Amino acid sequence: MTTENFSLAGRRVYVAGHRGMAGSAICRRLEREGCTLLTATRAELDLRRQAETEAWMRANRPEAVFVASATVGGIIANSTRPAEFLYDNLAIEANIVNAAREVGVAKLLFLGASCMYPREAAQPVAEDALLTGLVEPTNEWYALAKIAGLKLCQAYRRQYGCDFITVVPNNLFGLNDRFDPTHGHVVAAMIMKFHTAKTEGREAVELWGTGSPLREFLYSEDMADACVFLMRTYSGEAPVNVGSGIEITIRQLAETIARTVGYEGRLAFDASKPDGIPRKLLDCTRIHDLGWRSSTSLEAGMAEAYRWYLDNVVSAA
Ligand code: GDP
Repeated sequence: MTTENFSLAGRRVYVAGHRGMAGSAICRRLEREGCTLLTATRAELDLRRQAETEAWMRANRPEAVFVASATVGGIIANSTRPAEFLYDNLAIEANIVNAAREVGVAKLLFLGASCMYPREAAQPVAEDALLTGLVEPTNEWYALAKIAGLKLCQAYRRQYGCDFITVVPNNLFGLNDRFDPTHGHVVAAMIMKFHTAKTEGREAVELWGTGSPLREFLYSEDMADACVFLMRTYSGEAPVNVGSGIEITIRQLAETIARTVGYEGRLAFDASKPDGIPRKLLDCTRIHDLGWRSSTSLEAGMAEAYRWYLDNVVSAA
């Protein structure tokens, strides 16, 4: 494992995907680094377009890049929109990585995803489990695109000596999540469902699957702190897992969110909806050894996520 001291102070730093949950958290965290933040909206720059991406990178000359831009979604979005999940993500990462090399970006951090690992991997999943088996089918398209992104970083490091690294966070939740009951990830979808049920006085909330799958949840601001930490201290071909160690069943998650929201009705699990992978806990020995650990409890993070939803989604409606 290679460590280094890459300072972001005074550098031009581009966060691709700054409006999403991961990118916006990285932007907030970068405020403490004394760097010049560069961002572009989708209207200004469509990262799926190679010529646009190259032109923007040449005009703006970032020295460091965080690739937090991706077409993302929950378990149903992943299985029903395979073309978007594969094409958009392959195009975004290929365009940014290649343009970053062309303009001489000193360091790039690519955000992978825990669904890159094989469904049958031994738990907790260490980084070297990658490509030792088949991925979970409900995430296949997204997972394959993210594996290709990691491989691009490795290939550009080997062939061109680019210092491009990959970070693999586990299931994220927090601020700026996509609050959409159909296409969102589980935490945002449940916050919405419980809030609506409480407001409308509903006696039950319908949730997907059996409630028994296990998931590890990482708070957005902790993920951003880990990314900045790794950008500054880690250089290497191997990806680095980022988890919280907080592993619970989907039913326990639902109970936690119901408490946060103040909903006292019944949980109705619909087992005809997919459960997805039964368990997905990351082995975080590598990042712990480098000197980083997550610090936010599930309850504290959930309270912040709900507050963000009330302030930004409910009040804006
Ligand atoms: P995954 O971690 O890649 O499977 O993605 P998700 O965040 O979409 O789903 C996590 C788990 O939560 C799965 O087992 C889902 O079946 C379960 N789940 C329960 N209710 C919901 C819901 O309302 N929305 C979503 N997205 N997942 C739900």
